[in-house]
Amino acid sequence: MRILLSNDDGYFAPGLAALERAFSRIGEVTVVAPEADRSGASNSLTLDRPLMLRKAPNGFYFVNGTPTDCVHLAVTGMLEHVPDVVVSGVNAGSNMGDDTIYSGTVAAATEGYLLGIPAVAVSLAAKNGVHYDTAARVAVELVERWLDAPPAEGPVLLNVNVPDRPFEQLQGYEVVRLGRRHKAEPVIPARNPRGETVYWVGAAGAAADAGPGTDFFAVEQGRVAVTPLQLDLTHREQLGTVQTWLGL
Ligand code: MN
Repeated sequence: MRILLSNDDGYFAPGLAALERAFSRIGEVTVVAPEADRSGASNSLTLDRPLMLRKAPNGFYFVNGTPTDCVHLAVTGMLEHVPDVVVSGVNAGSNMGDDTIYSGTVAAATEGYLLGIPAVAVSLAAKNGVHYDTAARVAVELVERWLDAPPAEGPVLLNVNVPDRPFEQLQGYEVVRLGRRHKAEPVIPARNPRGETVYWVGAAGAAADAGPGTDFFAVEQGRVAVTPLQLDLTHREQLGTVQTWLGL
């Protein structure tokens, strides 16, 4: 089995090393990740400058671009064979609810999925988490199960959030929908050395829609939250409303 690994925290991130250790045991691994921390990059492609693919001493490839660039470049220009699966992570911090819109971790997996490859985004649900190996083991388990019984409807795009604890202390899996957060915190103004006002993007909002059946709730209960994602943003219930406005 051929596995392509990427992330958004950068090629030096501990979560990526954990994934590489875990997947090397079950297949042929290629790592292509951003040269810098590109958390929050979402699905952006770099179109205003060329990309460079370089190799670190540990064999990981890194790119002066986004997570999406990395998977796009790897699959369409670098690898001789299309990988069997793309795994992104293990992200330092959860990607639940609205986070999935901004997440570069989810984006790297999404790029694989858009290219027709089953893909998994894995995040460790803790601010300063340590159990990356737990999350990596979960990712391997999910990939093996998918490959054992690939669903007829085609590749999956899974968003997975793993509680930060030893594998044996996980309370099992739960397949859940994304929750929702409250509105984000406002930007934080600061003064730069030249006396100009600058702004830091503030924190994400606290969990709002976080009851049973959501990713927030599952992780809170110590379970691995697994959400199959789709990419069609069409708001089907509003199709009729907008048609009415337009007199159609
Ligand atoms: Mn990140």
